[in-house]
Amino acid sequence: MKKRKFIIIGSGITGVVIARNLAEAGFKVDIYEKRNHIAGNMYDYEKDGILIHKYGPHIFHTSDEEVNEYMNKFWKLNKFQNIVEGYVNNKLVPIPCNFKSIDILFPDKAEQIKNNLKTFFPNQPNVPILELKKIDNELLKEFSDFIYKNLFLNYTTKMWNLKPDEIDESVTARIPIILSYKNTYFNDKYEGLPIDGYTKTFEKILNHENINVYINTDAINILKMEDDKIFIDDKENEVVIYTGPLDKLFKNKFDQLDYRSLHFEFETINQTKFQETAVVNYPDDPIITRITEYKNMTLQNVENKTVIGKETPGTYDEKSSKWNEPYYPLATDEARNKYNKYKDFAKKYTNLYVCGRMGLYKYINMDQAIKNALDLSKEILENENKK
Ligand code: UDP
Repeated sequence: MKKRKFIIIGSGITGVVIARNLAEAGFKVDIYEKRNHIAGNMYDYEKDGILIHKYGPHIFHTSDEEVNEYMNKFWKLNKFQNIVEGYVNNKLVPIPCNFKSIDILFPDKAEQIKNNLKTFFPNQPNVPILELKKIDNELLKEFSDFIYKNLFLNYTTKMWNLKPDEIDESVTARIPIILSYKNTYFNDKYEGLPIDGYTKTFEKILNHENINVYINTDAINILKMEDDKIFIDDKENEVVIYTGPLDKLFKNKFDQLDYRSLHFEFETINQTKFQETAVVNYPDDPIITRITEYKNMTLQNVENKTVIGKETPGTYDEKSSKWNEPYYPLATDEARNKYNKYKDFAKKYTNLYVCGRMGLYKYINMDQAIKNALDLSKEILENENKK
């Protein structure tokens, strides 16, 4: 058995993928998880016979063959495809805004708006709202002002406590205006939810003789830092892979990092269906951003019962009763600069790898997190082989 041991902090998707790859390469891996369950924010569990996502709807989608193939070793996806609708100016329309949304919202001017869009953006499948707003055309100005105000402004202000042009443009560009009738939320080759659920999938990934998992254990309390090393028991032979927020690891040395958090209220309703799509957005509502009906994405066939989750964003604060989990790194330069101080400081530790959505302080999707984890596993193993 190889002498070097890996300590992984956090059992989210990044931590478990790396754990599995290192375990398969013959290394002993200990995973420390401070929560009372594995699977990070992908954790799902059964409520009244329906599989729900404790930390909000997680839908896998990717066009990356390597990621898809890797995950297929552990899960089988159902055929769910995300189609979202939202109440814009009191009308239920497809989101992202597509040609059908335009038909519903502008019954008198729809043809002209669609024609102008095609003229200004030929051969382009979509256009981000902040780009559309720059176009010098009277009708498109009226259209983009309306969409900006009714679809983006209130939703984004609730979500980020900032206006769309005060956050990184890539955030609102995730939901561009679609220049066709295409009505799917994602554009990827593979999409779905694991039929057996995420938590079961994580159990399978972790089911390896070289992996030990310790839940209910906050590694921060047992980690030691000496000279250029970070370790639990054996300074010379342990390598630490940290997937959590860096301010926690370094005890807020450079102040707290800024995150947005979410609060979920789950409700079981005694009716077969609550809404047509899995997710309905509420840009108009003063408090909530979306309602998810889980059955519509797990595709479970349950009569006279359904579970919905209402989503309310807020500022992350570990002492808050509602918003005490970090979900989204704040997408501003100021927030990232603060993070960069931690990132530079972390380089001092020669046996530390920092990764994951929290560790990297990056708003990435599940498949990007998996891709990063696969790449980092290879890098770690190459570094080990050099030793
Ligand atoms: N957004 C919006 N209105 C909507 C949906 C999204 O303004 O109806 C903006 C908002 O700023 C949000 C971003 O687009 O944070 C990205 O939305 P997405 O659905 O990708 O967010 P996620 O599912 O990652 O929370």
